[in-house]
Amino acid sequence: MEDPRIGESEKQIFSVTTEQLLSFINDRFTAKECSNCSRAYSVQVMTESGDMPVVAQYSLARTPHAGVWVFLISCSNCGTVSMIHTEAVREWMFESKDPVGAGGVDNNVE
Ligand SMILES: [Zn+2]
Repeated sequence: MEDPRIGESEKQIFSVTTEQLLSFINDRFTAKECSNCSRAYSVQVMTESGDMPVVAQYSLARTPHAGVWVFLISCSNCGTVSMIHTEAVREWMFESKDPVGAGGVDNNVE
């Protein structure tokens, strides 16, 4: 039986690959260095189930059965973990007029 909480948007979020998330980061981030260690920013996508990006859920204090979904990334130097709202990536991939950038993906935000 399918999980009734998993609709089309959630399926799209689960389909986002590490490469596609890195493309989003390269498209949207302008930071040249980590705000904590000041090294040139090199993003590491935290992964699960092979090479798929982690989708973490932060439960809501007032509504514990509901949560906000985020992708987790970290600075490859100091390990500072940051979150990206999954909906921003889903909209960029599936609803923006510009197609998802393909190829030339690296994990350095420059
Ligand atoms: Zn850092």
